[in-house]
Amino acid sequence: MKKFLKIVAIVIAVLIVSVLGYTYIAFNSYSPADPDVEINQTVQQYFHNSYIDNRNAFKVQANKIQTKFDSVQLFSRNVPSKIDNNLTIDFCYIPAQNKAEKLIIITSGTHGVEGYVGSAVQQMFMNEILTDEMLDDVGVLLVHSVNPFGFKYSRRVTENNVDFNRNCDTEQTLFSSENEGYGKLIGMLNPEGKVNSASLKNRFFMLVAINQLVRKSMASLRQAILQGQYEYPRGLYFGGTDFEPQIEILGAVFKEYATDYETVFNIDLHTGYGSRGEAHLFPNPIDDKKIKLGLENIFKGYEINWGDSDDFYIINGSFTDYIGKLLANKTYYPMVLEFGTLNSQSTVGSIKSIHNMVLENQGVQHGFKSAKDSLKIMHSFMEMYNPTSEKWRTKIMDDSEIMLRRAMKNYADL
Ligand SMILES: [Zn+2]
Repeated sequence: MKKFLKIVAIVIAVLIVSVLGYTYIAFNSYSPADPDVEINQTVQQYFHNSYIDNRNAFKVQANKIQTKFDSVQLFSRNVPSKIDNNLTIDFCYIPAQNKAEKLIIITSGTHGVEGYVGSAVQQMFMNEILTDEMLDDVGVLLVHSVNPFGFKYSRRVTENNVDFNRNCDTEQTLFSSENEGYGKLIGMLNPEGKVNSASLKNRFFMLVAINQLVRKSMASLRQAILQGQYEYPRGLYFGGTDFEPQIEILGAVFKEYATDYETVFNIDLHTGYGSRGEAHLFPNPIDDKKIKLGLENIFKGYEINWGDSDDFYIINGSFTDYIGKLLANKTYYPMVLEFGTLNSQSTVGSIKSIHNMVLENQGVQHGFKSAKDSLKIMHSFMEMYNPTSEKWRTKIMDDSEIMLRRAMKNYADL
């Protein structure tokens, strides 16, 4: 009997060590494969290494557009900041060349650091996609860097640690939205003290997360984390206690430029969610059947994630929904285009993604234990939102070119 118990104990010990070893390796060496494509060098030119370089590149393309089409307007709006007086949202408006019926608004950098890829897509859009035919009754408003602070200082959030995509609404009641589930995850999401990437808790973060997953489902965990929260100003997915200045700035521009159009369509460009190298159409859930049908026509041949899978979650204060509320008298089509980087639909990918965000935010809020920690954490964070892989960039730029060209044509035909 004693011998038997000893064997059982050894088997259990081996199992525990194997599970720990497996999760340790799976998590710490996680690196999803690049798409299998041949590198297209010409699209690499749209990627730049800083907010300022991207802004300049956007203006270069916008200037070129000005020579191609009639009455193109370029303008900027300053976003106030405590530390930087050179943060702007830049606009390029190309009016419908014949008759103003439909407007498309393409926005980038709602989550600042995601602006690198969003800006690249906008530059390509201006340089390669727009034609006279498309612009007959469709006007285009390109909005470069909705959150310039986040873009310039490599954060998803604004200077006030606000997730702008949880801060948008026409009513202040947004800020009293409750999120009970979030409070229960506070220790996992917002640890305090200087961040040490080599600590046991960080090396075994996957177990910490799995522990939560065992108690709650993936769906309820996603919802609690991602819907936004209005209670913890230093925490992840903080939606603010008041509107960020961009609400007023953008609200005024959208109202003015949408005046002549009956129909408005927004594509808000994001990165970091979904399969690596894939473009995902991922709107906040929509009830209106007519709007859903319209979007299905615009993106004919593409799958739209309407929120009936396990990925489903609803966010409060979404930017694209805000544009619809602002322009309530118009037919409005909202769409979020996400470029996947870490296979966040898989368990390990989603845990890795959230861990990258936890570490970055902890570092900003409480400091890094060493320069090495800071470098390592910021490198993983940047790679999640702006992958340097030329294959990844090739794939998403080539796919977006085809998708946006089709969407423009279908939108014009709607
Ligand atoms: Zn985003």
